[in-house]
Amino acid sequence: MLNLAIAPLVTKEGARIGRLVIFDDVTEREDLERRLVQADKLSSIGLLAAGVAHEVNTPLAVISTYAQMLAKQLHGDETKSKLLDKIAKQTFRASEIVNSLLNFSRTSSTAFEPLDLNKVIRETISLLEHQFEKFGIGIETELDEELPAMRGNAGKLQQVFLNLLLNARDAMTDLPAGDRRVLRLTTAADGLGVRVEIRDSGPGIARDHLARIFDPFFTTKGARRGTGLGLSVSYGIVEEHSGVIEAESNPGEGATFRLEFPAASRKPVNA
Ligand code: ADP
Repeated sequence: MLNLAIAPLVTKEGARIGRLVIFDDVTEREDLERRLVQADKLSSIGLLAAGVAHEVNTPLAVISTYAQMLAKQLHGDETKSKLLDKIAKQTFRASEIVNSLLNFSRTSSTAFEPLDLNKVIRETISLLEHQFEKFGIGIETELDEELPAMRGNAGKLQQVFLNLLLNARDAMTDLPAGDRRVLRLTTAADGLGVRVEIRDSGPGIARDHLARIFDPFFTTKGARRGTGLGLSVSYGIVEEHSGVIEAESNPGEGATFRLEFPAASRKPVNA
């Protein structure tokens, strides 16, 4: 991103003797501004969510409990018990959405400890391995064994990788049969930080969507499959870890998510 300014060059007497042309590289400033706007969006959602979540969760729990109690009283009425089952399932889903909204509020304190990001990634993969196999998706990893430790919360970071991997899975299952389906995960030490790259061979992200994927409630998956909270929650978690997350995609060539975190020290975890 370049800022171009042209001003007349004038002598003391006021005669124009030329032009002053200034090229200013504002890429970093633009980037910083974009991140600030995103953080601001998320923190206002956080305030709203913290206020609403508790109020909504209580009636949801009541509905779910009564639906389950009624289901127990119905003996052999298949149709009605199916309906009650649906009520209970939908209240669970609503409650899940409310709880993920709560992730935006920084009120809950997160315990940070030194951790090996490779280990978090391996555990996440092992959770999803079976699913990926089922959809014919191969997983390739290139994990830097000399990766420095970082400070963080393993549970929250796992949530980030789960979201990214599930999105990649969804993107690749939409591919026509026979297309290459590969997820590539790379970690590397980068200066004083830890870098992770997650690349999929899915259809990629449309240019006008790319700027919006980290926004709360932005989804292209339809109301039943997506909530549009996965990436915005992940963005919040990465930020809480003083990290950066960004996406890059050329439509038709898959999507790449890059994450960077500061290292706790330069020593590798296993040293
Ligand atoms: P959800 O998964 O509920 O839709 P997310 O916030 O996780 O919510 O993702 C938002 C949107 O970003 C998705 O609906 C999809 O359009 C896009 N997206 C995310 N990851 C990928 C990917 N790997 N490939 C293509 N599109 C993606």
